[in-house]
Amino acid sequence: MYYPEPIAKLIESYSKLPGIGQKTAIRLAFYTIGMDDEDVNLFAKNLLSAKRDLKFCSVCGNLTDQDPCSICTDENRDRSTIFVVEDSKDVLAIEKIREYNGLYHVLQGTISPMNGISPDDINVKSLITRLIDSQVEEVIIATNATSEGEATAIYLSRLIKPSGIKVTRLARGLAVGSDIEYADEVTLLKAVENRKEI
Ligand SMILES: [Zn+2]
Repeated sequence: MYYPEPIAKLIESYSKLPGIGQKTAIRLAFYTIGMDDEDVNLFAKNLLSAKRDLKFCSVCGNLTDQDPCSICTDENRDRSTIFVVEDSKDVLAIEKIREYNGLYHVLQGTISPMNGISPDDINVKSLITRLIDSQVEEVIIATNATSEGEATAIYLSRLIKPSGIKVTRLARGLAVGSDIEYADEVTLLKAVENRKEI
């Protein structure tokens, strides 16, 4: 089917988003064209700003618009624990349960030899640097319950334990293969409370 080029380009952009098929892309493109100029301008501005103004925190690796991020610089947070997660979405999931008041470290991935992802390819080195001469007493490893998440947890545990810092892993309330960001709050809270030393 023929569309004028500006619409075709917009459809193409939408269809690159995850979970958006061709049909939905067409619907979104036509919806966008029907929006007020003001709303379209704001939409475009927000897209550009999200890409331009966000960076990774140089301390914890979380997505932030200020470096270090607001969690790393928060004086009221408990500096004796670090919650290690795979990505920034997991930080939001844990923050939502309002039970944890320590610090985070975002790996931005997992170790996956099958896909050629080694510890050097994710945010591990900065975690180890953070632990040297720190007040950290416990590192809670909350990588997802997938084989890569497990392998990463074991790798980190072996790396950190010789320093005498306690290493724990979230309890198995979380289904195998499940992502933390999709866990409901009660399950997540239980998994944190029942964490086990590894
Ligand atoms: Zn940070």
